[in-house]
Amino acid sequence: MRPAVDQVALATLRTVPELPEVESVRRQLAPELTGRRVVEVWWDPHPHARISGLEQAAGQVIRSVGRRGKFLLCPLDGPGFAGGIGASGARDAGLELVLHLGMTGALRLVDATEPTGAHERVGFDLDDGRRLAFNDPRRFGRASVVVAGRYLPDIPTLAVLGPEPLSPDFDPERFAAQLARTRAPVKARLLDQRLVAGVGNIYADESLWRARIHPASRRVGRSRALALHAAVRDVLAAAVEREGTTFRDYQLVNGASGRYLSELDVYGRGGLECRRCTATLRRIVLAQRGTTYCPSCQRI
Ligand SMILES: [Zn+2]
Repeated sequence: MRPAVDQVALATLRTVPELPEVESVRRQLAPELTGRRVVEVWWDPHPHARISGLEQAAGQVIRSVGRRGKFLLCPLDGPGFAGGIGASGARDAGLELVLHLGMTGALRLVDATEPTGAHERVGFDLDDGRRLAFNDPRRFGRASVVVAGRYLPDIPTLAVLGPEPLSPDFDPERFAAQLARTRAPVKARLLDQRLVAGVGNIYADESLWRARIHPASRRVGRSRALALHAAVRDVLAAAVEREGTTFRDYQLVNGASGRYLSELDVYGRGGLECRRCTATLRRIVLAQRGTTYCPSCQRI
């Protein structure tokens, strides 16, 4: 192994959380946040910050911490929330806090008296004396409070998000039929979140390698699509499992935890040997993303 390759890859790996990392964050935060009341909210007024509706969070109780794709979803109960039926008799959807870590976001639970960090964009003071701090140096993350389930116009990506890859909603035949209808490169389709939620650059490369499909392929027939469906599931399930066993602490809740180059088959391994056929793995740019694949065993 050439150490230089490792160094570059690790630097990249440390920055972008995908579904398994967000699921790990969710599992860590859920027992801490469920049932806590938000006492006060502070946020960064920067014009590029993807922040909206946070003033509505004050006084709300966090009912649970869920996830869709790479989004964290926390349903909120207001002070006067009476179980879901409003004065008009209509179903009251309540509010929902939506968080997305973007490329560099990290969530930390700190003592409320701890000074605001240099890259802290949002701080939720909780009724137990702690603060949920959202740090995001590059401001690609998001924090919004919306009416539950109503994601337009603020969060269009969430509104069109495809099925959860690890749920029964991710149907193999429907996935194959949708892939057959397009002539876009298959990797771009995996990344756009509408076919399946939560797959980012790393796990797209890993899934395509496992299914032996070239990332630039524009024709993926039924049997290859079914293989890809299974690969997406296997790769993500294994990564979620790994995250669960390598948990460290909240200060590392940013996608860095639990993910190492040695556990990946292609991503970050350009120039190294394919673990299946020993050909040299190639790195190209596809859909504006660095993409690593095996030119020998992944077919177009
Ligand atoms: Zn190969």
